[in-house]
Amino acid sequence: MGKARRVVPSSPVAQHKHCPICGEVMQPDEEYCSAKCEEVAAKRRKDEQRLRIIWYVLLIVMMLILLLPLLLQYKGF
Ligand SMILES: [Zn+2]
Repeated sequence: MGKARRVVPSSPVAQHKHCPICGEVMQPDEEYCSAKCEEVAAKRRKDEQRLRIIWYVLLIVMMLILLLPLLLQYKGF
């Protein structure tokens, strides 16, 4: 039942890649079109890492706030 969808293995259009930073067409075996874009990507990754650390710290603080009354109760305070 239904029509089988034909999958095209590879088209010549897919032979090139776009730079994830500026969108410029570039070589498929390279990650970024230039050293500048690579720098931007590295900076962005660092920012993401910092954001993740902030999130973890917030999560731990929230857990502590939630658990503190329980801990105090456990100690018979
Ligand atoms: Zn680029």
